[in-house]
Amino acid sequence: MSWNAEQKMQFLFTLRSKGVTDARTLGAMEKVDRGDFVRGHFADRAYDDMPLPISSGQTISQPSVVGLMTQALNVQPRDKVLEVGTGSGYQAAILSHLGRRVYTVDRHRRLTRDSEAMFAKMDLHNITVITGDGSFGLPEQAPFDRIILTAAAEDPPGPLLAQLKVGGIMVLPVGQSDAVQNLIKVTRTENGLNYDELCKVRFVPLIEGLGHA
Ligand code: SAM
Repeated sequence: MSWNAEQKMQFLFTLRSKGVTDARTLGAMEKVDRGDFVRGHFADRAYDDMPLPISSGQTISQPSVVGLMTQALNVQPRDKVLEVGTGSGYQAAILSHLGRRVYTVDRHRRLTRDSEAMFAKMDLHNITVITGDGSFGLPEQAPFDRIILTAAAEDPPGPLLAQLKVGGIMVLPVGQSDAVQNLIKVTRTENGLNYDELCKVRFVPLIEGLGHA
């Protein structure tokens, strides 16, 4: 079952009221029904502005945080984007409407398998899904115009910074996993890296190695 006009309108209204005002971000989020990425018990909460459990003990992020991160990433139509933390696939599906190609990595095979199936069902053919430890990035596809992490690192991982193009943007939560973290935006210029703090967030931690499922 897909969302109806009223659910969609309310969803977009909530995003705007939480600061997601960029028209391209809202347009991409309008094209992706979050209900397709939430299963089981929590399906009827899919349009609420809250994170929800998905398989492998992980979460689909809060829609307004997805919107704020997407807005800050400012993906351009020719961009090659790397996402670390595929989770449900929701964020990657939104990015696929904004950029040229999206690479998304998760350490849980079950999550990458399920999201790959969902992308095929949705005819989203510009997403490549990889099972692995995304903290090392994807050297064989680097450099990237945009990099987004949807799991919290204590500091921006060096290999990912190294894979960001000049003019590129990386958005990620940083801080201890059991505390409130800072959402930051890192911009690579000719002269180095600029850091901007965006807001407080709470994400699951970036974990080394492959997951059990
Ligand atoms: N972006 C996701 C979505 O739209 O549903 C939400 C991601 S969830 C908050 C964080 C994800 O990061 C989890 O699926 C987790 O398995 C993944 N993760 C944690 N550490 C990782 C790592 N080192 N490499 C790749 N994925 C990782």
